[in-house]
Amino acid sequence: MELRSDMSPFEGVNYFFERAAELNGLSDSDRRVLATPTREMRVEVPLRRDDGSLDVYVGYRVQHDNARGPYKGGIRYHHSADLDEVRALASLMTWKTAVAGVPFGGAKGGIEVDTTDFSPRELQALTRSYTRAIGDIIGPTTDIPAPDMATDAQVMAWLLDEYEQLHGLGPAVVTGKPIALGGSPGREAATGTGCIIVLDEVLRTGGGSSENTTIAIQGFGNVGRWAAIEAVERGYSVVAVSDIGGAVHLDGGLDVAALTAHVDETGSVAGFAGADAMDADQLLTTDVDVLVPAAIGGVINDSNVGDIAASIIVEGANNPTTPTADEALADRGVTVVPDILANAGGVTVSYFEWVQNIQRFRWSEKRVLDELTEVLTSAYTDVRAAADQHGCSLRLAAFSVGVERVTEASRLRGTI
Ligand code: NAD
Repeated sequence: MELRSDMSPFEGVNYFFERAAELNGLSDSDRRVLATPTREMRVEVPLRRDDGSLDVYVGYRVQHDNARGPYKGGIRYHHSADLDEVRALASLMTWKTAVAGVPFGGAKGGIEVDTTDFSPRELQALTRSYTRAIGDIIGPTTDIPAPDMATDAQVMAWLLDEYEQLHGLGPAVVTGKPIALGGSPGREAATGTGCIIVLDEVLRTGGGSSENTTIAIQGFGNVGRWAAIEAVERGYSVVAVSDIGGAVHLDGGLDVAALTAHVDETGSVAGFAGADAMDADQLLTTDVDVLVPAAIGGVINDSNVGDIAASIIVEGANNPTTPTADEALADRGVTVVPDILANAGGVTVSYFEWVQNIQRFRWSEKRVLDELTEVLTSAYTDVRAAADQHGCSLRLAAFSVGVERVTEASRLRGTI
């Protein structure tokens, strides 16, 4: 596939898939089977607003591949969540679950909606409406949703309740639930914590450490916030953070606990008294050692890649780097820890949550963290080894590892 700067998100993911397939020696027909989503559901999501008016949104559930286990992937409420984006994210989940070695396939869901001004009642009604629409194709052994952008444990609780009203008891139908409803200790923090566990491994195996290592984080939601907390815990200096409302910066390192309290109170990092305000656009190009994009897709692109100062990028967000920007970073020797490895901590602890629901047995937070560390460390070791073997980037190596595992499962099933 030809590299272009105007690739759609799904084309971008398939660009890396194709390169990995080439590396792995896959035939054209096998590639077509592995790249094509198994099922794409487009649904109408009606919502009665608090003022009595009736809105209608469009939602999707894309089931990309289930050769290695049930379809698995989050649900996103975002105005950009169209079919192409949801396809791209579903495909990334297929390769991510394989890289992590958890027995799931890949899926993703989304509604094209901006819920910023929604009341809790409206958010609940929207979630129930969407759950009814996709209810027949999800289930504890078929397709298991989880939180993503603008959805959280509360949204998963409403999804669970609506599903169970339709289909009977089944807590394993969704992960990222509140602990009181069968959620796992450590799930909320897992994606952000996982980013830092992988960063630690990258530095350790390269002879570095967290000491005097500065980090900038774009996005202070579920992923960005927990990445910041874990980074400080492990001795990194988080010097800049942004969200949709603005950005803040402090050379000596931000007080992340105080910043978190400020965000809980005001809804944004903007206006945090313990730091200097900065232009949110400058966050990505600020002078730091490590950059963690943890918000939306496509933010590292042709327009800013030449100005990126960090020598390591840890992709907390899904698909934050466009293919052309990724090539430019590789040419410059910037280490990009790809999304399908860096943010795999979320789906890994989702797997632990699903296991606990099936076992009807709760694990301790320590056990979750120990096993998460083991899974991510081993995934990084496998990806690093593939990068060394092929002399390629960590992204191409991660795709190669993921594609190899899905290929093996598909061959054993006889589907390719
Ligand atoms: P979230 O909704 O909890 O937080 C998103 C954050 O990004 C918010 O702070 C928001 O203000 C900020 N943001 C949105 N648009 C922005 C912009 N244009 N510039 C700067 N900041 C912006 O979402 P999340 O769950 O933290 O997900 C963030 C990313 O991580 C997404 O790409 C998601 O797919 C990915 N991810 C999430 C999980 C998970 O477990 N939640 C797992 C793997 C990957």
